Amino acid sequence: DGSIHVESVSKVYDPDGEHVVAVDDVTLHIDAGEFVTVLGPSGCGKSTLLECIAGFTDPTSGNVYVDGEIIDGPSAERGVVFQSNRLLPWMTIEENVDIGPKMRGAVEDGRASQLLERMGLEGTENAYPSELSGGMQQRAEIARLLANDPDIMLMDEPFSALDALTKEMLQEMLLEVWDDDNRTVLFITHDVEEALFLADRVLVMTAGPGRVKEIVDVDLERP
Ligand code: ADP
Ligand code: ADP
Repeated sequence: DGSIHVESVSKVYDPDGEHVVAVDDVTLHIDAGEFVTVLGPSGCGKSTLLECIAGFTDPTSGNVYVDGEIIDGPSAERGVVFQSNRLLPWMTIEENVDIGPKMRGAVEDGRASQLLERMGLEGTENAYPSELSGGMQQRAEIARLLANDPDIMLMDEPFSALDALTKEMLQEMLLEVWDDDNRTVLFITHDVEEALFLADRVLVMTAGPGRVKEIVDVDLERP
C-alpha cells in the first residue's frame, strides 16, 4: 500500500495581504510502489505540494488521499527527507535512527545498525551528525526514515546540496532501496537529469508564482 491521490489541491499564502498561489488546482495520482519525480523550476510550488501530501500544511482547497482515505496531518507512514538533514545534533547517529521506534516504544536491538549498514554507514552508530559528511548525513536521514517502515517516502531535493559523485552514489542507493522494498517514492527535484534517471514517471510542474501551473505527466521506459 501507499497510493497517493491529490484532488484539486490549491494552496494560497497570504503574507501581509499578498496573495501567493503556491499550488494551483493540482490533481494527480500515484500508484502504490511507483517512483515518481516532480520536476519544476524553483518557486513553482513543489515543496508546498509535498508539504500538503506530508500533512505538514492543509491545502486551502482540495484533498489529499492516501490509500483512499483523506489524510489528517502528518503520519509515520509518510516519511520525509529534506534538502538539509534534520538529524538532532545532540544525539548519536544510532539514537537518531531510533527516534521513531522509540516514540512507538518499539526499539529493536541492532535494528539501527542493520539500517545503517544497508545505507553503507556501518560503524557510525556512536558518531554525532556533525562528524559525518553531507552525503553520509543524508544516508543516515534515509536510515532514520526506513526505521519507521513508511509506505511512502517523500523526498524534497534530498541530494541537491551534494557534489556530483556523492549525488550519483545516493541516487543508486535510493533506487536499490526502492527496488527491494516496494515503497512509494515521490521525489522533488529541479534537476532534469536526476528526474529522468530516478523515475518511472515524471510530473513536470510548470510556471512560477501567480501563473497557471500545469502538471504534465511523462511515462518513462526504464533502461
Ligand atoms: P518550490 O518548492 O517549487 O521552489 P515552493 O513550494 O517552495 O516552490 O514555493 C511556491 C511559492 O509559494 C513561492 O512563491 C514561495 O515563495 C511561496 N511560499 C511557499 N511557502 C510559503 C509560505 N509559508 N508563506 C508564503 N509564501 C510561501
Ligand atoms: P525549496 O528550496 O524547496 O524551494 P524554499 O527554500 O523555497 O524551499 O522554502 C523552504 C521553506 O520555507 C518551505 O517550508 C516553504 O514553505 C517556506 N517558504 C518559502 N517561501 C516562503 C515565503 N515567501 N515566506 C515564508 N515561507 C516561505
